[in-house]
Amino acid sequence: MVALRSDSPIQYVKGIGPKRAEWFATIGVQTVADLLEYFPFRHESDRGEVAIEDLAPGANVTVRGEVVEVGGRRPALRCEIDDGTGTCVLRWFDQRYGARGLFRGAMVIATGRVQVYDGQPELVHPRVQVFDPNAVLLAAAGGPRRVGVYRGNDTLKSPLIRRAVLNVLAQSHLPVTETLPPRLLAKHKLPTREQAVRQMHCPSSDGQLARARTRLAYEEFLLMELAMALRRRKRLALQAGQKLHVTPEIDQRIRARFPFTLTAAQDEALAEISGDLRSGRPMTRLLQGDVGSGKTVVALYACLAAVANGKQAAIMAPTEILAQQHFTNIDRYLRDSRVRYVLLRGKLGKKERTEALAAIERGEIDLVVGTQALIQKDVAFNHLAVVIVDEQHKFGVLQRHEFRTKGPMPHYLVMTATPIPRTLAMTVFGDLDVSLIRQSPPGRGQIITKVVTGRQWATVMGYVRQRLEQGEQAYVVCPQIGEATKRRSDEATEDSDEATKRRSDEGVVSHVPSFPRSHASGGGGLIAVTDAYRRLCEGPWRGLNVGLLHGSLRSAEKQATIEAFTAGRLHALVATTVVEVGVDVPNATIMVVEHAERYGLSQLHQLRGRVGRGSKNSLCVLVARGRSNRAPSASAGPIGQVDRGPFTADSAAPSTPAAERLAVMAQTTDGFQIAEADLRQRGPGQLFGTRQHGLPELHVANIVEDFSLLEQARQDAFEIVAKDPTLSRPEHQALIPALKKMFGQRLALIDAA
Ligand code: ADP
Ligand code: MG
Repeated sequence: MVALRSDSPIQYVKGIGPKRAEWFATIGVQTVADLLEYFPFRHESDRGEVAIEDLAPGANVTVRGEVVEVGGRRPALRCEIDDGTGTCVLRWFDQRYGARGLFRGAMVIATGRVQVYDGQPELVHPRVQVFDPNAVLLAAAGGPRRVGVYRGNDTLKSPLIRRAVLNVLAQSHLPVTETLPPRLLAKHKLPTREQAVRQMHCPSSDGQLARARTRLAYEEFLLMELAMALRRRKRLALQAGQKLHVTPEIDQRIRARFPFTLTAAQDEALAEISGDLRSGRPMTRLLQGDVGSGKTVVALYACLAAVANGKQAAIMAPTEILAQQHFTNIDRYLRDSRVRYVLLRGKLGKKERTEALAAIERGEIDLVVGTQALIQKDVAFNHLAVVIVDEQHKFGVLQRHEFRTKGPMPHYLVMTATPIPRTLAMTVFGDLDVSLIRQSPPGRGQIITKVVTGRQWATVMGYVRQRLEQGEQAYVVCPQIGEATKRRSDEATEDSDEATKRRSDEGVVSHVPSFPRSHASGGGGLIAVTDAYRRLCEGPWRGLNVGLLHGSLRSAEKQATIEAFTAGRLHALVATTVVEVGVDVPNATIMVVEHAERYGLSQLHQLRGRVGRGSKNSLCVLVARGRSNRAPSASAGPIGQVDRGPFTADSAAPSTPAAERLAVMAQTTDGFQIAEADLRQRGPGQLFGTRQHGLPELHVANIVEDFSLLEQARQDAFEIVAKDPTLSRPEHQALIPALKKMFGQRLALIDAA
């Protein structure tokens, strides 16, 4: 037999051939290497079963297959099973001897003597075991050797995949190349790649399987982190940056601009930033911290460092509202200084605009604030040295912004209020520098968070009313109308045109169902923002001044409502998630989130960040609704009878799955802990669209579960690149093709070797 190579087409594997090779192509397996890396999703014991196509008349065999037909005239029974290689009939002439519980789709293991009838193999009166294919069938059964169960499809079933794999594994040497340097194999006591691949398919023990998995996961992490290390090295080594010096006088002058002392956390971030600015290499740093932690002040410091060095700086915000807010803040700090700053509005008059742009180009403006679109599209800088990108809670796209500037590449600081779990900081953003501000400025009130169910709505709102009458202000966040048909509410942070359109298609909601019972009793309805507004105004908040804010309103209307709320003329604002960005009212101390179960924890954290901004204590109520709340529990009486106050023991111990998921919110206000929990609950792909970031797909490794392995691999990878930046040492040479395989086109970003 000719030995198979890793790039041999799958059709040359014994028992496959050109026809079946096409089936394998449907699961992405074209070569022997693909097959070897097509790992099973679980294992079961191998009891010496025979493939149906190999059945020989007269032999005593065990076959395994899926029931594709059950029939025959009583008392006889005829059943046909398919194992992916062929079909075999199981026949009973008298059901008393036969199997009960045979049904289409069941998995069957049948033992008996092979006969051939009408050209088809049959087992007459076989012994059978019937399994529900959905149950984790034989995983628990022991055995001398275990074989894989593979994800197949209608034509290509697991047994055939298994047979192909076993036929390749029959070779004494597998065409598998070692990628890891021997030093790392020894250091972490890992099996070779060949051993690991073999054992992934056919482990002889759980321990062996676990070690094989670890080895392959480690390899995936190492390659990924090598890419990060190489990318980072390239950025730092190949690009000239501008040296900005922050002398003690400059430092003092800048600090004197702020009416407070910087916190220790801010100082730490600043030390890192100043280090970057004077390094001669362009900074690419992510500045993370919760809303209100004082990032903007740190960013402004970096801008002023540029200005003090005779250079320009730019602050780019995602929206006009936020750009305006930054400008207002900056204006507060810089009003009586010599710094020349400008807000680049979208609606500037033509003359004003031309003048501003010309002044920037001549270098007569030091600091430009605007949206990303405006600054990138319109502005030619004279000598731009620092760029602040405010990503607020949207995050980390970190495009290469192109600027028209005479000077070299500017320093970048990206502010994000989305706490990034360490796992992601090492992967998605693994090539960036990260500064954290984990401590908020002093003097903030506490936020108490409660998770309640829809049944407690009236009581909660009654309680909130009392606080509103005493001068506090509240937000109620609800889904937009039409959002019910959106797949995920948490992907839509702003009201889209689509939602607006859908709303007008649906017409105005004209009936106001009694609330909350109609929803508590099912119907799948969401409480849209306009419903909630009416119910509050006609119910528990009758007579209060309540504003309504959503994406379909005209912009002047929105502006007027926000202003009224900011000025304290409104008790409350019933709004869609538009309040997530851009509304900053320190007197607002109460946040009620309707349908909290529809949001990811990270987004709830952002919403909650709207309160707790002043010195007063705040309250955040998360109303979990949805199916699991449908049936009122026996102990709960009608709404009107619940008069024990909203936060009794009952509500503090929510019992629905949604409420349990949300309980994390009540336990902590630490954005990092919440982000970690969110990552565990939803997985990395869900959370941040990792694909966007050029992160490779991991087949074996899991960044949450294998975190310590990831840390190890990262450390090893950065050490390798520090010692051998081109990976040209003999022991590192196998890494390059492996990287190419993993990253494909994207390796151009890395430029190894
Ligand atoms: P972020 O950009 O992280 O949301 P900001 O920089 O806007 O936070 O700061 C939030 C609020 O806290 C602002 O009103 C700011 O003036 C104030 N602030 C920032 N740093 C401090 C500090 N060290 N001490 C007291 N107040 C501070
Ligand atoms: Mg801010």
